[in-house]
Amino acid sequence: MSDLQELTNKLLEFRNARDWEQFHDSKNLATAISIEAAELNELFLWKNLEQSEEVDRDKIKDEIADILAYTLLLAERHGFNVKEIVLEKIAKNNEKYPVEKAKGNSKKYTEL
Ligand SMILES: [Mg+2]
Repeated sequence: MSDLQELTNKLLEFRNARDWEQFHDSKNLATAISIEAAELNELFLWKNLEQSEEVDRDKIKDEIADILAYTLLLAERHGFNVKEIVLEKIAKNNEKYPVEKAKGNSKKYTEL
């Protein structure tokens, strides 16, 4: 079993023991991902670059874990293999952002 599948199974076990599947429709899971990402951003809000590197790592870990947990649950709901879809996305981005055009700049692919 892959690490990602093992994590997903742990999340499902936790959720199902609490009968929370009823709340985990796609809209709620997508909203939860967005809220957890906002909580991550809040850790850095109003800090300069130097202060941003000094944010409590435990708090960063918590928010990363929350984002990933809801992401895995949303992927599971749709039967997606997370490894496959990330690899597919990397392949798409390789086409959008060829190294010879994208290396060293942050322009969007439409402006390359
Ligand atoms: Mg959180």
